[in-house]
Amino acid sequence: MVDINELKMIATQVRRDIVRMVHKCQSGHPGGSLGCTDFLVALYFHHLKHDPGFNIDGPGEDLFFLSNGHISPVWYSVLARSGYFDVKELGTFRTLNSRLQGHPATHEKLPGIRIASGSLGQGLSVAIGAALSKKLNGDKHTIFSLHGDGELQEGQIWEAAMFAAHNKVDNLISTIDVNGQQIDGPTDRVLSLGNLRAKWEAFGWDVLAMHGNEMEDVLRVLEEAKQRLGKGKPVMILMKTNMGHGVDFMMGSHHWHGIAPNDEQLQNALLQLHSTLKDF
Ligand SMILES: [Mg+2]
Repeated sequence: MVDINELKMIATQVRRDIVRMVHKCQSGHPGGSLGCTDFLVALYFHHLKHDPGFNIDGPGEDLFFLSNGHISPVWYSVLARSGYFDVKELGTFRTLNSRLQGHPATHEKLPGIRIASGSLGQGLSVAIGAALSKKLNGDKHTIFSLHGDGELQEGQIWEAAMFAAHNKVDNLISTIDVNGQQIDGPTDRVLSLGNLRAKWEAFGWDVLAMHGNEMEDVLRVLEEAKQRLGKGKPVMILMKTNMGHGVDFMMGSHHWHGIAPNDEQLQNALLQLHSTLKDF
C-alpha cells in the first residue's frame, strides 16, 4: 500500500506530466485534469483493485470509467504511472497515430481504456451497465465513474440516475467534479445546477461530500463510500475541486479548461511542481 506522502508526491508528478503533455502538443485540457489529479491518484494507487496487465472485460477487478473524457491528460498519466503502459508514451499525446488521443477511444487499444468518452453524459449509463453485469456474473468488485459538473446538464445523466436507484445498483461509486466551471464559464451563469445534494438524494442515491484537492479527505471519503456499498442504493460523491489546482495562474477560472500553456507559462508552472518520479 502506498502511504499518503507518496500519494502526494505522485500527484505532483502527475500534474507535471499534465502541463508538459498539453504544452508539447499545444492542445488539450489542463484545468479539469489538474483539479481531478488527487482523486485519480488516490483511486489508482490506493483504492482500486485493478490489474495493469489489463483485460478489457475486467473480471475479478474494480473498474473505472471516465465520463468527462476531455480530462484525458490526468488519466493517461495516472495509467502510465500505474504501469498500464510506458511513461515515455505520454510524450505522444494528441499526435497523429498516437494511442493517446485527445479524447480516449477503444480502437487505439490503449491499456486501461474500456470506452470512448468525450461526448458528455454517457459514462454514467456505461458504468451502470458494467455494475449490473458484475452482479449478474457474481463478481463482488466495484464500479467507479467520474463526471464533470457541467456534464450534469445532459439529460441522459438523469435518466441513468433514476434507473440506477430503481434497480438498486449498489456496487457503484460515482463522483462528480464540482469545480463550478465549464467550457463557457461558471456553471451558475451557463445553466445552474442548483442543490446537487438534494437532487441526487431525491433521485434515490446515497450522497457524500469530499474536498477533492485534500488527499487526506479523498482517502477518507472514498473509504466511507466503500462502506456504503451493498445497501440498496448507488453512491454519489460530490467532490469540490479547484479547476487548475496546483498551478497558481490556472486556478479559479474556466480560462484553462482547454488552453495550452506557452513556453514561459510552462516554466512558471513547472517551478510550482517539482519532479518526484522523473519526467517522461
Ligand atoms: Mg466543471
